[in-house]
Amino acid sequence: MKIKRIDHIAIVVEDIDQALGFWRDALGLDLSHVEDVPDQQSIVAFLPTGESEVELVKPTTDSSGVARFLEKRGPGIHHICFEVEDIEAALSSLRQDNIRLINETPMIGTGGKKIAFIHPESTHGVLVELYELTGQEPEMRLARARRLADRVLTGGQTMANSALEFLRGLGSNGR
Ligand code: ZN
Repeated sequence: MKIKRIDHIAIVVEDIDQALGFWRDALGLDLSHVEDVPDQQSIVAFLPTGESEVELVKPTTDSSGVARFLEKRGPGIHHICFEVEDIEAALSSLRQDNIRLINETPMIGTGGKKIAFIHPESTHGVLVELYELTGQEPEMRLARARRLADRVLTGGQTMANSALEFLRGLGSNGR
């Protein structure tokens, strides 16, 4: 299996703004954006650090894995994600080594990227995510821009639907 780099380290927090007080303000990392990720029932703040990223994750429901993690263990590192060249090959190699997998086959994440988790039981206590970059990353960015437009709009006062549609259209023209 070929590991290319650490893609991100996900840190569960109780409050994004408070966490940014350390990670962005004191430590000096740049905040690229904050995103609502309904897939993961979380709000995520992305802080790029060279070839990798720190992701601050705040659960938005009580029932997700991240929410249960926070309740049980408190804030802290939730998982480390490695980019691999070929995720299917990586999973089959791990299976051969009797490594306990959470996902036997890759899940399709936002924008079509492939991800799978390895159980902490087999990793000496760390939840490990594998990630294979796909050609759909640009679509992912577009979807992100659309969601951002949606959030800005629905976060404000109620607007006429026609106005909403108009503005969403603008959002989708963005990158
Ligand atoms: Zn992750």
